[in-house]
Amino acid sequence: MDSKYISGLRIAIGDSSRVISNPQIVEQLSRDFYWYSPVLRKQLDGKLGEVVVQPLDAAEVQKVLRYCHSNNLPVTARGAGTGNYGQAVPLEGGVVLDLSRMDRIEAIQPQGVAVCQPGVRLGELENEGRKAGLELRCYPSTIIKASVGGFLGGGSGGIGSVAHGILRDFQTVRAIEVVTMEAEPRIVLLEGEAVHEILHAWGTNGIITRIWLALTPAVDWSQCIVAFDTFGAAFDLSEKIAIGPGWTKRLVTVFEWPIPSFFTPIRQYAPEGKTLIFFMIASSQRAELEAAAQVAGGTITHSGIYPGLNARPLLSDYTWNHTTLWAMRSDEAYTYLQCGFNPDTVREQMRQLRERFGQEFLFHMEFMKNGEGRVIPGAIPVVYYTTEERLNEMIDFCHEIGVFVANPHVNNVEGGGRYRDDNVQLLAKQRYDPKGLLNPGKMITFHSESRTAGATKK
Ligand code: FAD
Repeated sequence: MDSKYISGLRIAIGDSSRVISNPQIVEQLSRDFYWYSPVLRKQLDGKLGEVVVQPLDAAEVQKVLRYCHSNNLPVTARGAGTGNYGQAVPLEGGVVLDLSRMDRIEAIQPQGVAVCQPGVRLGELENEGRKAGLELRCYPSTIIKASVGGFLGGGSGGIGSVAHGILRDFQTVRAIEVVTMEAEPRIVLLEGEAVHEILHAWGTNGIITRIWLALTPAVDWSQCIVAFDTFGAAFDLSEKIAIGPGWTKRLVTVFEWPIPSFFTPIRQYAPEGKTLIFFMIASSQRAELEAAAQVAGGTITHSGIYPGLNARPLLSDYTWNHTTLWAMRSDEAYTYLQCGFNPDTVREQMRQLRERFGQEFLFHMEFMKNGEGRVIPGAIPVVYYTTEERLNEMIDFCHEIGVFVANPHVNNVEGGGRYRDDNVQLLAKQRYDPKGLLNPGKMITFHSESRTAGATKK
């Protein structure tokens, strides 16, 4: 980037220490976990921003965006950079807008809504919430590192979703404040349904500067691991607990063998050859759960009170998309898909997948509530990668047998499975970022007004 732009950005926010052009830092803050996907690794290796800017508040975000708009500089928002699809990797250079210093929890309102800046870490919000008798409704397994803004911008759900659905459901996100990318950037408050303009839009249509997030009353949790001889018996129990309205649960995860063999720090809880279920269950129901597991033929290999995120073991560290990480550590050829099964035919769908792909497609199931309030079996299967064609064959076959796939091997909002059919994210981009400078290249149905980029295409 021409040094005149770096000087201009320094003048714009009046603090040169928060405009960073050191190449190592710029490189580090241009990457996320895109390398989870062998397909994206090929596409995104070497894509970098050119300068990092770290605003402290919405007014500074406005100053940066005003400067970038007038100089046609691309801007890619970044929280903690734990996204999996190259969401925060700049495709056209320019500014990496690092929101990690906007990390203030402003209030935990008595009606159970947290108000915070985007750079607050989810773990911090969970801990603060619990002090007020509240906790997050749902969170990714990256809770300790990931930011609230990044979760809204690029995540979907996780631990807690079995009871509360994913982020976009049940008005969990009450309101979002965004700064627009216009000649005069505005601060816009989006409430109610309007939050869907911004949710999971990968920072392509506004910079989130404040969030109103609904929490839920805190529960005294326990963690349990149950081992089964067969996947079928484990799945039956997990389904019973997940859909049973009487059970208070935060996590119900099933891993078929050999997935538990990848969890090296907790191998003592994973007997050879067994399927495991991981539960987070209300402590008041732990004894009842253990009894139900034994009746179903399971063996309890771990059970204990959950003291919070400092729990050892912390079972969530092995669930949701952490499972894939453990698999990749064991063998780099493993990757993943994100699937939604039909609750009425899930066993038949799994049978067909096993028949067609054998051990190339390993079952890692996660239960979650859908927007209509039904708990459904989702999955983040661990798949053995050989070629892109074979991976696409798996995706096509899933579609053929009625299994929904949110494809994690594409680098655009529309391709990933959380793009809305009513196009509200695109319509918002047309209004808030008409030049197409926010995270360019990630919303492929958008066509910008012509611009001469101040930054070079990489
Ligand atoms: P980033 O990666 O920094 O950003 C994500 C997207 O949001 C980017 O497009 C970025 O441009 C945009 N963005 C960031 N901040 C803003 C802002 N202020 N305004 C506008 N746009 C913004 N995800 C889940 O949903 N559930 C899981 O269980 C889960 N498990 C994971 C496990 C592992 C091991 C890994 C590596 C990833 C996992 N993820 C999961 C993905 C990711 O961790 C989460 O989505 C997380 O919430 C992203 O937060 P972040 O701060 O790292 O966001």
